[in-house]
Amino acid sequence: MTTLKMNLGERSYGITVGRGLLACVGEYFNLKRKVLVLTDSGVPREYASAVADAVRLAGGEPCTVTVPEGEYSKSFEGLSSVCRAMLTYGFSRGDCLVAVGGGVVGDLGGFAASVYMRGIDFYNIPTTLLSQVDSSIGGKTAINLDGVKNVVGSFYQPRGVLVDIEVLATLPKRQIASGMTEAVKMAITSDAEFFSLIESEDIAAHLEDIIVGALKIKKQVVEEDEREAGLRKILNFGHTLGHGIEAECEMKGLFHGECVALGMIPMCAPEVRERVLPVLNKIGIDLSYEYNLDRALSFVSHDKKCRGGEIEYIVCERVGSCKIVKATLGEFESAVRAVLKN
Ligand code: NAD
Repeated sequence: MTTLKMNLGERSYGITVGRGLLACVGEYFNLKRKVLVLTDSGVPREYASAVADAVRLAGGEPCTVTVPEGEYSKSFEGLSSVCRAMLTYGFSRGDCLVAVGGGVVGDLGGFAASVYMRGIDFYNIPTTLLSQVDSSIGGKTAINLDGVKNVVGSFYQPRGVLVDIEVLATLPKRQIASGMTEAVKMAITSDAEFFSLIESEDIAAHLEDIIVGALKIKKQVVEEDEREAGLRKILNFGHTLGHGIEAECEMKGLFHGECVALGMIPMCAPEVRERVLPVLNKIGIDLSYEYNLDRALSFVSHDKKCRGGEIEYIVCERVGSCKIVKATLGEFESAVRAVLKN
């Protein structure tokens, strides 16, 4: 078991990574109060049940809300169903919300906790690899609006995060690959040794090391730049084009991490790409996926990070480091096309 601490002054919290932690949530979180256990319909039911049992054991009152699985739950409808449940069950400012699920449940739950009665305690129990290595820490919460991702949200740190690796046993392989992309992203941009570990070792045998390695990098970045004024932008490596691909492929069922993987490729220098491509293959990303680059790039131009035809994106010229590039949209497009030759 590994315990990390996110050091953010009065917003600091513990992040515990280990196996079989779900059964003893009460040892980590203050559950002796009303607890909204938020999950989605794709998360095996026993995980939220285990948390609800732990709440009862701690002398608290659980109320479980299950939203439909999928990105659509990150919406005002999803938000109102969560807030309405808390209102119906008489939740006050001293009560709390525990998210049990992937990035969708974490982003929605965190946002609901940040606005209900101007903020109640929020705990996160991430159950996908993506949420375990990335989205469960750092305090970004959000819902989508009119097809624009994460456009309504807040910075709101959780009070605690519990990463139980055993829940990954039920996660489909493609979701594991998608989550691994975010760990690869952290390694490429920040830690050459960590990248070598993913490159050379058996992933399944080193899953705990990989999760902890990724969390350590994200933790350091967030501690230095909580509100994304500068350094935190490196976590967007692969995401500029990746979000464009995600929008282009909206109805085709591509996962977030798969789009990010495709988006990282043209952002690497040739010698970096030579090492990154086999690693993406190794973690199970299908690199043969064909998307419409023109359409993806047109979505990039509508991205909230693209202001007045100017865009910031991250490039990696050497494994383990990266830089933020400010350019015009045209220059970004040329850089992408030069690699993808489309
Ligand atoms: P997700 O939450 O939609 O989960 C993927 C699927 O796996 C869902 O169908 C879910 O029901 C199912 N699932 C969850 N846990 C499971 C388990 N243990 N076993 C079996 N099935 C399980 O997707 P995700 O990839 O976890 O998260 C994507 C979301 O995260 C996006 O909305 C993205 O914007 C957000 N995100 C947020 C941040 C952040 O910093 N806040 C960072 C990256 C991504």
